[in-house]
Amino acid sequence: MKCILCESTSQFLDDYKLNIESDIDYFGKLKIFYCESCDLGFANPMPDSEKLNYFYSNIYRAKGRPHEIPENYRFNLYSERNLSYFTYLSTFVNFENINNIFDYGSGLGDLGSLIKKKYDHINLSSIELEKTSKKILKSPGMMKKHYSPGIPVLINQIKHDKKSAFIYIGKKYKKRKDFFTLSKNSNLKEAASNLYKTFRMVKKKGYKKIQICKIPLKGSGIAINDRIMRASN
Ligand SMILES: [Zn+2]
Repeated sequence: MKCILCESTSQFLDDYKLNIESDIDYFGKLKIFYCESCDLGFANPMPDSEKLNYFYSNIYRAKGRPHEIPENYRFNLYSERNLSYFTYLSTFVNFENINNIFDYGSGLGDLGSLIKKKYDHINLSSIELEKTSKKILKSPGMMKKHYSPGIPVLINQIKHDKKSAFIYIGKKYKKRKDFFTLSKNSNLKEAASNLYKTFRMVKKKGYKKIQICKIPLKGSGIAINDRIMRASN
């Protein structure tokens, strides 16, 4: 069998194991092949995508099925499964440098929530077809929509109160303790990308309050102001 990516010869691994024998209606008689040069396992023949969409939207988590979600289900972010996925992803993704994650087929969103719990600056979007998971994903409080450092954030500040972390743009106070710049060169784009990082750093240092100077309402400054407003709520 030719690999679907690189077309080199792949080897037969196994028959696809169905959870429920009758699901063969949706999956067909799948065999799994493995390509060593791509490190890719793939199904052959590829099941019909319309049938698969129907299956995962309506049947996969239906009542009495192996993946049914019980009524009062509360997921465990730190399940062994989530932690092992997270550890694996961390071997090749530095989440510190990631701003957006699109989780395709997120299920209940628990893995994404775990990542977000650890890296609160990341914007997480989840895409899920399946009805029950979707309901859970949409439930209020399921996902924190915006980053908040968890300590008071004061905007449009002029005077340092001598105990808060003071965040500003430029290098005017570069030698002063408690002052943190978002961009030495007063570049608003750079400042925007440093905002959450700076919040986290400041919080790590143990500050109990954040003061932020006035940020110009132009270009990326608009996004910065927007984020600060949300973070201060
Ligand atoms: Zn290949």
